[in-house]
Amino acid sequence: MSYFDHKDFDNHEQVTYFTDPKTGLKAIIAIHNTNLGPALGGTRFYPYANDEDALTDALRLSRGMTYKSAMARLPLGGGKSVIIGDPKTIKSDALLASFAESLNRLGGRYIAAEDSGTSVADMKVIHQTSDYVTGYHDKKDTQGGSKSGDPSPATAYGCYLGIKAAVKHRLNLNNLNGLTVGIQGLGNVGYRLAQMLAADGVNLVACDINDDAVAKAKSDLGATIVALDDIYQTSMDVFAPCAMGATVNPQTIANMNATIIAGSANNQLDTLSTGELLHQRNICYAPDYVINAGGIIDVCYEKIGQYQADKVNQHIEGIYDTLLEIFQRSATDNIPTSHLADTIARERLAERHPVIQFKQSA
Ligand code: NAD
Repeated sequence: MSYFDHKDFDNHEQVTYFTDPKTGLKAIIAIHNTNLGPALGGTRFYPYANDEDALTDALRLSRGMTYKSAMARLPLGGGKSVIIGDPKTIKSDALLASFAESLNRLGGRYIAAEDSGTSVADMKVIHQTSDYVTGYHDKKDTQGGSKSGDPSPATAYGCYLGIKAAVKHRLNLNNLNGLTVGIQGLGNVGYRLAQMLAADGVNLVACDINDDAVAKAKSDLGATIVALDDIYQTSMDVFAPCAMGATVNPQTIANMNATIIAGSANNQLDTLSTGELLHQRNICYAPDYVINAGGIIDVCYEKIGQYQADKVNQHIEGIYDTLLEIFQRSATDNIPTSHLADTIARERLAERHPVIQFKQSA
């Protein structure tokens, strides 16, 4: 399999394969860039069809993490790990311990966190063997209560603020009351986002493959439930993709009447050229790695040992300002928001001005 000629190779600093026949571990850890600090990114546990797909995911997602952390002014580089296999059948404490030993071999250049197929409980297991993991601590929330290491509430809060920024820019409204938001995916992030929007008087339209999630959103939040493929043509002001990647593409936006796309999913656009299409159609797109940075901000403060809920929230609230800056520059310079975000992220990567610093090495 070609690596240096891979279409998603972007001068990644290091890509390492780890195997352990005793536990069934097959993992790839990709470190894209450590200019700003140790590479932090989630551990995705997924039954990839082949190694090539796993490598592609690791290369793309680790690069995205470099941009996400630089944009959020965190002292972190970009990395991602993938464990190949079905977590429902092969995940075990022994396999996670073996993965933790792989982290130790990288000596802190990469820090793991929760992602699809892994949980806070898994991070706790990994932490028994390695310090190079975050998102497992119980933390204090702003009311002094306790919350788990799960970054999803922070991600949902950032998305909520991102939707507000887009509504301010595109519709010139200061509140969301009476607007309609279509949410694709009512999981850890999407459901919490739905709760925040419902509290603001938003009309919710939603879909999910999980019948329990849609039933709960219908009964508890008054959401109108639509079939999976119908969400794109639903009459809505905002489309919030909160499930998988690449659901924003020429086919899905062909008949979309939403004027804003703002949600948590990673890699929302199928290709960069879809960003140009959105710009031409005057659809205000909140770049995914900008709007969904709440979670990485949350786990970064945890890792640094400076977790204070109000400080974390303040940092997450910066997402609103960053997005407004992107929307305004996009309009003034006539550049798609997706392209502009990459430019600003590269500027911030070069500036090396994180808002917080590691006091000690990770
Ligand atoms: P999750 O797995 O908890 O939720 C995803 C939801 O999407 C599930 O309820 C699933 O049933 C649903 N879904 C799957 N296929 C679907 C389909 N075809 N149509 C509609 N719904 C479908 O994941 P999550 O943690 O909520 O993350 C959601 C997205 O946000 C993912 O793309 C993730 O990578 C991204 N993200 C999450 C975080 C975080 O803190 N959790 C941070 C950054 C980015």
